[in-house]
Order: sequence, then structure tokens, then C-alpha cells
Amino acid sequence: MRQRLIVGNWKMFTTAAKARRLAADVVEELGSETRVRVALCPPVPYLGIVGEVLSGTAVALGAQNVYPENEGAFTGEIGINMLLDLRCRYVIVGHSERRHTLGEDDRFINRKVVAALAAGLEVIACVGETLEQRRKRQTRACLESQLISALSGLTAEQVRHVVVAYEPVWAIGTGVNATPEQAQESAAEIRELVKERFGEESARALLILDGGSVNATNAATLMHLPDMDGGLIGHASLEADQFLSIVRSSL
Ligand code: PEP
Repeated sequence: MRQRLIVGNWKMFTTAAKARRLAADVVEELGSETRVRVALCPPVPYLGIVGEVLSGTAVALGAQNVYPENEGAFTGEIGINMLLDLRCRYVIVGHSERRHTLGEDDRFINRKVVAALAAGLEVIACVGETLEQRRKRQTRACLESQLISALSGLTAEQVRHVVVAYEPVWAIGTGVNATPEQAQESAAEIRELVKERFGEESARALLILDGGSVNATNAATLMHLPDMDGGLIGHASLEADQFLSIVRSSL
């Protein structure tokens, strides 16, 4: 039985005060929750503040991005060792906002996956098709090429430390979520692709998250699809009540 995981991606929102309060509200309700795994991914400047609030609780800290080196002359970037230093457990890689707005390509994303796993982080690898790809019936091809590239060079053992987030680009921040049928179909394809490359056991253990306009109203259905194991929650994770309600509906 796979343990569900709900991840809050705060994107480039909050202030120091709001980040502290939001994390404290989540901890108050979920600080000792063990039935479901919960992680918060604040903006980089607030990783330390949120990490202090989460310290010693069941809620894990995650980062929204990483550079695939420990340190170096990479102005504005955050190194892998820095995330470990801040006690991050998870890192999001390949988010569509980084692919499409910041121009990250599959090769660079794969470097991040490999480097983060080598350092002991758990990777949340995002994949998802654009609206045009879906209209042209290229969803499966898109998921396959993004997934295979992101996981390139990994062993089956390493894949156990990867969580895949299915996030159709057209659903992110739009208020239009994938239907349960679309989400389940894509999740099943992702699991099948992992089975083909890394074997039955890796596929069975793989956590797949649904992302893209998941909220307190649609979460209960989306989180309980046969191949879905939780959610990567953007805007709805910025309000404690909504986020907590999503976590509760995953139980
Ligand atoms: C995300 O940031 O990964 C996301 C899914 O955003 P939203 O929930 O706002 O669509």
C-alpha cells in the first residue's frame, strides 16, 4: 500500500510573516499526522523560517528548485548542499513554470534529478502536456519523453526516491483541473512507462501526484483514483484551511 503524499508548492508567494504563519497553521493540525505524508515547499528565502517551524514535526520541508551542483559560481542559484543544510527532504524538479517560463530543458532537468538523488534528496519530478499536445493527441508521447529523459541513467533503486507529479500545463493555475478520467489515464500511463523501464516493483511503489488546480472541492475525487497517490498543490496551498481540507480528503 502506497502512503499518500500531499505537497504544497507556494511558488513565488508569501512574505516571511505569512510563510511562518501558514507553516504554523499546517503544523498545528498535521504536526503528528502519520497516515499521510505532507510537505511544504516555500520560496527559497523562507526555507529557513519554515524549516524552523517544521522541525521535529511530521511535516517535511521541500524546495521548489535546485541547481545540479553543490556550490560554485552560479549567481542566483541554490546548491544541493544548501538544501541539505536547510534540512530539505524533497525538491521539485521539472515544474512546467520552469520548463516553459524559464526555459529549462529535459537534459538540464535530468542533471538536477541525478544530482539531487545522489545527495539523498527525494525528487518530485513534474511532467505534463500542453493544451496543444493534448488536442493533437500527443499526451502520451509528451509524458513518455519527459519522464524517460528525467529518469535517464537512474537505477531501479534510485527510482524509489522519485515521486512523479502529473501536471498538465493547461491545468496549472487556470482553475481548470484534469477530469478524473484524464488524470487516471495519464497516471496509469506513467506507471506503465516506469514498469517497462525499471520493472514491476518500482512501478508498484511509485508515488504519482495530481497537480493543476487541485482544490478543496475536487481533491477528494482526484486523490483517490487508482493510480493517484496524492497531490502537488499550488494556489490552494496558500490558504491553510484549503490545504488542510485537501490533506483531510486524501485520508
Ligand atoms: C503547481 O504549482 O504545481 C500547481 C499545480 O499549481 P496550481 O495548483 O495553482 O494549479
